Amino acid sequence: MKNIVILGATGSIGDSTLSVVRKHLDKFTINTLSAHKNVDKIIQLAKEFKPRHIVITDELAYQKVQQKLTIKSIQIHSGADVLNSIVADSEVDLVVAGIVGNAGMASVLAAVEAGKTLLLANKESIVSAGELVMPLASKNNAQIIPLDSEHNAIFQCLGDSYQTGIRPKGVNSVTLTASGGPFWKTDANQFKSITPAQAVAHPQWDMGAKISVDSATLMNKGLEVIEAHWLFNMPGEEIHVLIHPQSTIHSMVNFIDGSVLAQMGCPDMQIPISHGLGLGQRLVNDADFLNLLQQQQLTFFQADTVKFRCLQLARDAMFLGGTAPAILNAANEVTVAAFLAGQIRFDQIGEINDRMLNDIQTTKVESLTQLQDLDTEVRFKTETHINSK
Ligand code: NDP
Ligand code: MG
Repeated sequence: MKNIVILGATGSIGDSTLSVVRKHLDKFTINTLSAHKNVDKIIQLAKEFKPRHIVITDELAYQKVQQKLTIKSIQIHSGADVLNSIVADSEVDLVVAGIVGNAGMASVLAAVEAGKTLLLANKESIVSAGELVMPLASKNNAQIIPLDSEHNAIFQCLGDSYQTGIRPKGVNSVTLTASGGPFWKTDANQFKSITPAQAVAHPQWDMGAKISVDSATLMNKGLEVIEAHWLFNMPGEEIHVLIHPQSTIHSMVNFIDGSVLAQMGCPDMQIPISHGLGLGQRLVNDADFLNLLQQQQLTFFQADTVKFRCLQLARDAMFLGGTAPAILNAANEVTVAAFLAGQIRFDQIGEINDRMLNDIQTTKVESLTQLQDLDTEVRFKTETHINSK
């Protein structure tokens, strides 16, 4: 029996994780589920899984849950800080990091500091704090298992040669595939009129709003290049991106002898998540099996980094190093939220991210507190810039 903490249990990653867990209740016990604002859903999940703890990070939502949920065996906690002690609890075996954005950074660091096996979906934390997370993982023997489908695909192709944060032997480069999102064929001069509803309607994957917009701007792929850089300890030049609209090949490893291994499957997060949860054992899940005859063809295209400037910005930030990825990531969280709220246009996401990356001074990464202060500063500057427009 593995004791699991699911951070962000009420989100899309939470849904897929719990779908897998539901099929394997003989293998997993839910220790903790966390939510931010979704009161009804966390109550429903608490009733179903009867975890030892639930954590509600939003204060108002916490008060509502406390009034409505009366199962004595479940301890109800409020605030983000408690997540850091819960993930470090000696009873906990696996931590699924499914919180969206920088809000998940402290709990990711706490899990690796405690030497836990971290199943990582929350890419923003490693983008911003990779320089802290990776040495801490190595010092405390924490294993980081990627759930992001591309990185999980690479992890599957590497097999036993994957070790957290160590450059795999015999590898020449990796190729991350990208569906291209809904607009890879759209003319750039139409970007001004793209609505939030169009941007979140992803052609292949069903995901939360923020990552769906990131997929539409290709910022998601940029963040994934940085994520791969940290997880596999590879330089940016050896991390390629290809548009592959069918989302059948989830990524590839190009070995030094010319062999290429790719991982394929239907675009369903239950597949990488069950692979991560299984820790080397394959687990059945509800994802469809791949039918290649229905696919007709698999196609690949170069990603256009002029049209999709966020992809280029992420590469620029990675080469700049230090706090540059954290600055870009924080700015992007604000611009995406502003776009979803109808405050800025789709094409302004990249424009404002670019401006923030260039205007805010990059320094060395030193500590979590420094990164949290920087996050507050970048959010403030980005919001001020948006409000002045
Ligand atoms: P969702 O928006 O669907 O879910 C986000 C989760 O985080 C919810 O449980 C939400 O709680 C919680 N949350 C939101 N804000 C806060 C906060 N300030 N503090 C604590 N918890 C918070 O996102 P996804 O599940 O799509 O994505 C989660 C992460 O996984 C992201 O980093 C994303 O990039 C990554 N990822 C997602 C994939 C996917 O298929 N969805 C694929 C690969 C990676 P509540 O709903 O209760 O407010
Ligand atoms: Mg991905």
